[in-house]
Amino acid sequence: MTDLKSADRIQDLQFFGEFGGVNPSITDSSTFTFLEAKTMAGVFNGEIEGCYLYSRHWNPTNLYLSQALAQMEATESALVTSSGMAAISSSLMQICSSGDEIVSSRTIYGGSYALMKNFLPKFGINTTFVDTTKHEQVSNAITERTKVIYCETMSNPMLEITDIRELSKVAKANNCLLVVDNTFSPLIFNPSQMGADIVIHSLTKFINGMSDCVAGVVCGSEDFINSLYDVNSGASMLLGPVLDSHRAASILKNMKTLHIRMQQHASNALNLTKKLETDGYRIIYPGLASHPQYKLVKEIGQSKYGAGGLFVIDLKEKKKPII
Ligand code: PLP
Repeated sequence: MTDLKSADRIQDLQFFGEFGGVNPSITDSSTFTFLEAKTMAGVFNGEIEGCYLYSRHWNPTNLYLSQALAQMEATESALVTSSGMAAISSSLMQICSSGDEIVSSRTIYGGSYALMKNFLPKFGINTTFVDTTKHEQVSNAITERTKVIYCETMSNPMLEITDIRELSKVAKANNCLLVVDNTFSPLIFNPSQMGADIVIHSLTKFINGMSDCVAGVVCGSEDFINSLYDVNSGASMLLGPVLDSHRAASILKNMKTLHIRMQQHASNALNLTKKLETDGYRIIYPGLASHPQYKLVKEIGQSKYGAGGLFVIDLKEKKKPII
């Protein structure tokens, strides 16, 4: 796949501060003033755009970070949240109502699995777990109640790669939305360009990259993102997982080095895994020819970001010493 321009533009994105600062000012207010009462009513009713109401709804700093992430994922819009789980739960609860179903990958982050397996059934939303690397399994699990197909581009913890192009065909044919968690592979894969409807990240991981905060994002169409923060019916607005603006500002600054960090992560992981494999360890790493989706990564990934910074060492038993 040729390298995408969208992902390359994040480090060039510049939001200036109100006094010309090279970083935007941080919004340090929970609420905003309206000089005329009718403007406030208009904002509440969704008739007036571009005004800020209350920071759980929007604030300028969160908007800058959201715009940068929408740019990175090549989606129309995005909404940052206080965690990756908040991004996932708000999205699924926005799309699904009682009686609806989800078809999800069986290898996903444990919290996402627990949400679908244990928590959403309390609201009448049930999930069938399948192997999303085999799109026939996904097709077979779909019923007329299925609203969402859910997977991780590169899965936690087994690093399986799902072919988003194939799943997108299944989603479209069955009138479902394809929701993809791209946390393990920012810049490497661009799910929206392969047909995903909604792309989610835990910003806690590579995107922020400093292990100093928990945050998330939902990237998608303008209509979907608007629905999430609708004052009367939006899951994010009403469940309230708002990101603090100081954190949004620091994540935005850290994003400027994401492209360099991702390249270095991939190079480190490739060097280490090659050595470990040569030493006789069973390694799971999508950048090694021994990985079942090695060719797929080459085909759908952006070559300069390699195969990511995570790998699995199968020690077979708990006691085996390493290196
Ligand atoms: N998605 C993946 C792939 C993850 O690994 C995690 C956390 O480990 C999450 C989502 C949840 O993100 P957070 O911890 O920011 O809520």
